[in-house]
Amino acid sequence: MTANTDAAPSTFPASFADLGLLPELLRAISEQGYTEPTPIQRQAIPPVLSGRDIMGSAQTGTGKTASFALPILQRLAPGASASPSPARHPVRALVLTPTRELAVQVEASFQAYGRHVPLRTTVVYGGVDMDPQIKALHAGVEIVVATPGRLLDHVRNKTVNLGRVEVLVLDEADRMLDMGFLPDIKRILAQIPKQRQNLLFSATFSDDIRGLADELLNRPVLIAVAPRNTAAETVTHQAYLMSGEDKRRALAHLVQTRDLRQVLVFTRTRLGANRLARALERDGIDATAIHSNRTQAEREKALADFKSGSVRVLVATDVASRGIDIEELPIVVNYELPHSPEDYVHRIGRTGRAGSSGEAISLVEPDEHKLLADIERLLKRSIPRETLALAESRERREGTRREGARRPETNRISEPRRAERGASTPRAPKPSVIAADGFDFTKPYEPASAGTSSEQSSKQPPHRTRGTPQTAVLLGGHGTK
Ligand code: AMP
Repeated sequence: MTANTDAAPSTFPASFADLGLLPELLRAISEQGYTEPTPIQRQAIPPVLSGRDIMGSAQTGTGKTASFALPILQRLAPGASASPSPARHPVRALVLTPTRELAVQVEASFQAYGRHVPLRTTVVYGGVDMDPQIKALHAGVEIVVATPGRLLDHVRNKTVNLGRVEVLVLDEADRMLDMGFLPDIKRILAQIPKQRQNLLFSATFSDDIRGLADELLNRPVLIAVAPRNTAAETVTHQAYLMSGEDKRRALAHLVQTRDLRQVLVFTRTRLGANRLARALERDGIDATAIHSNRTQAEREKALADFKSGSVRVLVATDVASRGIDIEELPIVVNYELPHSPEDYVHRIGRTGRAGSSGEAISLVEPDEHKLLADIERLLKRSIPRETLALAESRERREGTRREGARRPETNRISEPRRAERGASTPRAPKPSVIAADGFDFTKPYEPASAGTSSEQSSKQPPHRTRGTPQTAVLLGGHGTK
């Protein structure tokens, strides 16, 4: 493929007006409040306008959607028809995305940027009734944003005709392949004309993606922009090293003591997301989970509740988080680090947007140190670490004193697994500050004893040490620089 690609030119237009966009689009852009194009927009818009194929390495948060939506709208605008006849509104642009949330978000962008151009757009995704989608497709629509599976259902039902598609976009192509959509994508490719423009965006370029690009793209212009958060210094990164058992209480403590009102928390698994949301609820913190096992209606409600502020913590998996677009989300917590360092960049892309400052906090247990190092390698920067140990619960301390027994030093940083304590542990009534496990939220964290800390840190990669008490760290003393 490398022999058959073109690099983007080294100088790019500086303003939206210089990009040669239609007045209708410029108007919509300024109504969105955008004053200047982002790097990917400056690089991608001219070649897409001239009909070139694109292979773009860019992630959500870089302004990628407008980089393809604006020139697509411009290319389709001359054929836009005011006629009500469905025949005058064939599907001319098809955008495939891995998730429903991303599809909804991309379609909303087309709507926003295309509001002064008479082109119709719709979004098609699974997990919801097909009828409204069939209605929209029957009425005629030029731009369809879809997840692959549901689009194929429409193809099979003959409720969509893709025979006049001029532009195909594969958005987050790596994620689509990860999710096993390749066979569906191939079936869709068989439905659309061979003569067309192809735009492929992917955060990573695995051999599979390169294979797909080879098959799909014709002399693509290569475009690569740095992940937004590695380039922008608007996000503060902080890792807290702790035992896995302490994470839930650490998170609850963080939310409550800093009075955080809107926190996006990532877990690796759907089960973990559900469990954590329930545990936070038990601690008196309004929380909900968003992941691909939930129905579309449940996901939309979770997101709406989070956006409106009626839940404080949204626990998400990586896949579900793809389409989440919340302006100025102040803080993202990695309850578990992702296996793929690229996912860390995606996760923190939810904070520090549009120049606002954001905070990315990671709760890291010993098993995750390698993942943290992988992330630092990708970001090309080190993430400050602090070792945290929770104070023993009052109950346990008192019990220990009564028995006169000294607990081994190592026990001071981790408490017995909750499951091992049995089901009969009394649950504290909400909104008590004493959690079910006896942890008193009104008490600050206590640093581990010197012996324990050094024992722990000797196994950890070298990290910055600070003289300030760790309590202050977790409560924002260092986290917000
Ligand atoms: P995206 O990478 O397409 O998901 O876009 C990320 C965020 O950046 C979205 O909230 C967009 O509305 C916003 N955005 C896109 N282009 C610009 C721009 N030129 N100026 C300011 N914000 C933008």
